[in-house]
Amino acid sequence: MLNCRDVAHEASDYIDHNQTGWRRFWFNVHLFICKNCRVFVRHVNTTKEFIRKRGGMPASEQEVKGVMEAVRKADSK
Ligand SMILES: [Zn+2]
Repeated sequence: MLNCRDVAHEASDYIDHNQTGWRRFWFNVHLFICKNCRVFVRHVNTTKEFIRKRGGMPASEQEVKGVMEAVRKADSK
């Protein structure tokens, strides 16, 4: 069984599908029972998506506001 520290450490691999089958299975089990980690993984995913879209360019004030808004919305779900 994974703990919250494992999930925080592997969130990026989870999103990129870079885990073995069993690791991913236990990761999903942890997400199922742990709301904090679900929120955390959603935040990492939002951040990664944003960086991917930007292609590594610096973000404008407007875009930073957009991401913060998306994170706030994800939090309230
Ligand atoms: Zn957790």
